[in-house]
Amino acid sequence: MSRIYNFSAGPAMLPEEVLKQAAAEMLDYNNSGMSVMEMSHRSKYYQAIIDEAEADLRKLIGIPENYKVLFLQGGATLQFALIPLNFMFKGKADYINTGVWTKKAIKDAKLYGEVNVVASSEDRNFKYIPDVKKMKFDKDADYVYMCDNNTIFGSKYKEYPDTGDIPLVCDMSSCFLSEPIDVKKFGVIYAGAQKNVGPAGVTILIIRDDLLAKPARTPLPAYFDYRIHAENGSMYNTPPTYGIYICGLVFKWLLKNGGLEARKKANEEKAKVLYDYLDSSKLFTPYVDKEYRSLMNVTFRTPSDEMDAEFLEGAKKYRFTNLKGHRLTGGLRASIYNAMPIEGVRALVAYMKEFEEAHK
Ligand SMILES: *Cc1c(COP(=O)(O)O)cnc(C)c1O
Repeated sequence: MSRIYNFSAGPAMLPEEVLKQAAAEMLDYNNSGMSVMEMSHRSKYYQAIIDEAEADLRKLIGIPENYKVLFLQGGATLQFALIPLNFMFKGKADYINTGVWTKKAIKDAKLYGEVNVVASSEDRNFKYIPDVKKMKFDKDADYVYMCDNNTIFGSKYKEYPDTGDIPLVCDMSSCFLSEPIDVKKFGVIYAGAQKNVGPAGVTILIIRDDLLAKPARTPLPAYFDYRIHAENGSMYNTPPTYGIYICGLVFKWLLKNGGLEARKKANEEKAKVLYDYLDSSKLFTPYVDKEYRSLMNVTFRTPSDEMDAEFLEGAKKYRFTNLKGHRLTGGLRASIYNAMPIEGVRALVAYMKEFEEAHK
């Protein structure tokens, strides 16, 4: 067996310890005589797994009592529609546009109400985050929507907008559990698991109780109604059972390794290795303005598309995968989520130096 450094933006690397434990438990979980995959979600074994996953997540983040935790399906993409369907009580919301994922969220929200784009960084192809201090919100807006870490462009908020009494809804898909989260600042936080937390197929939501207490503006099909999932402890229908189990193992791994403060420190250290080199390089250029750089998705390029392609080709000999940038930014992208060890980042930088040396 030999594991490689996988720089994928998602699905992405998971901690090796977690994969090993899952492998060891594959055929017989906890003397149940079956795999977690084969278990009824109504069994006492599975109830313990999901209860423990939620308790560990609450402990890890410090989620206040007045927030519900949901484990659903549909990815972040389904939430683009479910957020307005559930929480556009009066029928309008403010959106901050910082990239592809907010554009998609805006498009879906427009199907259900009035959407005001209150700030955008599209003028410079999303190389920055608009100044949160200058943002003005509509007092009548049902919520303000933002995406914290912009996976494709590689930008990240360094402070959050102050929305007063208006609930702040945040897509944290690609930075969830990469640093401490002050949940009180938000009405809703959600994240698809496959970037930083677990396998694809699980979407985690943290929703403040008062939002769930009010009925949606129009009747919703059961699966679309967050209230129904909350009342049923994410078990209204069959949840993504195996995925939740893996997420639970990741939560335990995080707790064991110093929690989110330690994770933030490790992620800052890792990203610094890469950004310091990018700032000193005469060949590679980082994509995002310095003050808004993501710790998770590092976007950069060489002087030409041909050289980017050559870089990707050369990366194969070190078995680095998924370094190609998104087609909208071009260039290159290294996603260095929680499970990427610093050795992986150092090895990548060593290859970049070698490549730069060869192209002097
Ligand atoms: C990946 C991603 C999405 C889309 O997630 P799906 O699980 O594919 O629906 C949405 N928002 C952000 C920030 C992402 O990184």
